[in-house]
Amino acid sequence: MRKAGAMLDKILHLIYPCVCSGCHALLADGEHEICNKCVTSFDRFTDADAADFAVKEVFRHTCPEMEWPQKAWALYRFHKNDRLQTVIHAMKYGGEHRLGNMLGKLLGGMICGSPSAERIDCIVPVPLHKLKEIERTYNQSEIIASSLAAALCKDVRCDLVMRKKYTRSQAGLSPRERQGNVKDAFGSSGTSVPENILLVDDVLTTGSTAVAVMQALKSAGAVNVSFATIALAA
Ligand SMILES: [Zn+2]
Repeated sequence: MRKAGAMLDKILHLIYPCVCSGCHALLADGEHEICNKCVTSFDRFTDADAADFAVKEVFRHTCPEMEWPQKAWALYRFHKNDRLQTVIHAMKYGGEHRLGNMLGKLLGGMICGSPSAERIDCIVPVPLHKLKEIERTYNQSEIIASSLAAALCKDVRCDLVMRKKYTRSQAGLSPRERQGNVKDAFGSSGTSVPENILLVDDVLTTGSTAVAVMQALKSAGAVNVSFATIALAA
């Protein structure tokens, strides 16, 4: 069966050549979604402590009066016009949702084995407004969260927090405008919230959106909220 599947993949590859989402070169055998050259060009955090510190710095800057989050992870640093930006853009807006599976798995590899990960009760993706999800056909953070959850053997909960307001895109807004844009945008669904939550988003820029979701989760009863992202844009 597996042989037949591999053969079918090869035939499909001849008809519809698979190209890299970062550089659009043809993918070689064994490469999936992103070529090895692109993956190695991404600015990856060399250790989890450095990522934790860098992410927390963003939250401290955006929301200095709060201790956010308990533990934080980021896979890469995001630079303007680099190949990672192209990949993230394709995942968010280009319909290439399978990139979320791949990147979520890599993020899972970074978090797996951490003592903080063992205490997580469930994984929550940053919700999109229903209208935006219909427009894009999927929520990229939910796909990343599902893949991450599979790697960590945890549940994904999309029912705990809702996006109540249809907000304009955060792109191009100043940090203060971003905070105003997402103010009161999220709220509890009324469902009982576990104590230890890992919140997941695709990119962290100023942290305004993540802070707003964390506040909604805390108001609903979460005690410890950690945060994980594919890329830190700060
Ligand atoms: Zn490439």
